[in-house]
Amino acid sequence: MSSGTKQHPGVILVTGGGGYVGSHTVVELLNANYAVVAIDNLSNCQVSNGKPESLNRVEKLTGKKVVFYEVDIRNKDELDRIFKMHKISNVIHFAALKSVGESTQIPLSYYENNVGGSNNLFQVMHDNGVKSLVYSSSATVYGIPLALPLTETHPTGQGCTNPYGKTKYFVEEIGKDLCSAYPDWKVVSLRYFNPVGAHPSGIIGEDPSGIPNNLMPYISQVAIGRRDFLRVFGSDYDTKDGTGVRDYIHITDLAIGHLKALEKISSPSFKGFQAFNLGTGRGYSVLEVLKAFEKASGRKVAYKLVDRRPGDIATCYSDANLAKTELNWVAEKDIDEMCRDTWNWQNNNPNGFS
Ligand code: NAD
Ligand code: UDP
Repeated sequence: MSSGTKQHPGVILVTGGGGYVGSHTVVELLNANYAVVAIDNLSNCQVSNGKPESLNRVEKLTGKKVVFYEVDIRNKDELDRIFKMHKISNVIHFAALKSVGESTQIPLSYYENNVGGSNNLFQVMHDNGVKSLVYSSSATVYGIPLALPLTETHPTGQGCTNPYGKTKYFVEEIGKDLCSAYPDWKVVSLRYFNPVGAHPSGIIGEDPSGIPNNLMPYISQVAIGRRDFLRVFGSDYDTKDGTGVRDYIHITDLAIGHLKALEKISSPSFKGFQAFNLGTGRGYSVLEVLKAFEKASGRKVAYKLVDRRPGDIATCYSDANLAKTELNWVAEKDIDEMCRDTWNWQNNNPNGFS
């Protein structure tokens, strides 16, 4: 959309705006002429000039200023100050700790940050009359799939095996309770499958701190020479080649899903709580992703087949039809583009944002 397009009314508050999904969503919001205020406590960001480096780069990419405040969502007074300073119409809530493994070691920090922080945020929203929320949820709320593909009607919460997944589930439940208690509250929960890739410009992307837990950043660090080989966790699953199957989704498609959710939630007919899967509806095995990455990068990616990772499931992919019919959203980018854009980002930024 051109910058001459009329600005949307109201301001979108983006929590966790310096992070991977947040920064890519801010790009799409600015490109679509939304006014954005981003907040982040900088706990998982590279910082320069007091701002997440990701957002400095978003400014370069879009040619627009990003209004940013260093704010922790656990601090109600700081949050309140932001709501008093800006005429916020909707909140997109990304801020969270997100490591499954770490959450099993320090569960209280996860509950405090993700559940306590969200509860604070919702209280401050309520006090300031802002009752429209797009929430960053995860397919992890479905636990172990009882049937595939996963539809939004699949039970949630029951098979969540780790504290991180439970925090995502609990916050959804808070959202449902808010909508039951107050008819003017509206919540769209977006259940992401496996977000990967980077902005096609190669200017922003995913920059995990330490050793990556997730497949795609690990593969790309092997390809660039930062790691020796990929450990493929499990080759005896009941899948096409024995390795785990997931529904990978390009980060730009995911980001655009948030704009579609904003449109939905802003329509006068929308009421209450609604969850949507954001996925492609198709699964790729670990070895298929690895081969696609080799093709996209022209690099060989060494790997070793090792034992299964505890807590992993064989197969997980979405039914993406509800988002298609209700949000008018479909994931457009395929696995080759996901790998190409991951590699472009990695190759241009061998050390991420630092
Ligand atoms: P990220 O770590 O890159 O971004 C999260 C941001 O939130 C970080 O910049 C961090 O500094 C900030 N933050 C954390 N706690 C905060 C607090 N108390 N106050 C203010 N800021 C805080 O993670 P991401 O991958 O961009 O994930 C964003 C959201 O998407 C999270 O809610 C995550 O649970 C959800 N999600 C991510 C994935 C994924 O694979 N990336 C999958 C499903 C769901
Ligand atoms: N995986 C792997 N090696 C790694 C990281 C992940 O084989 O170093 C596999 C993992 O077992 C799963 C898939 O890649 O089958 C996706 O894992 P990821 O951690 O990216 O996402 P998850 O679906 O577990 O959230």
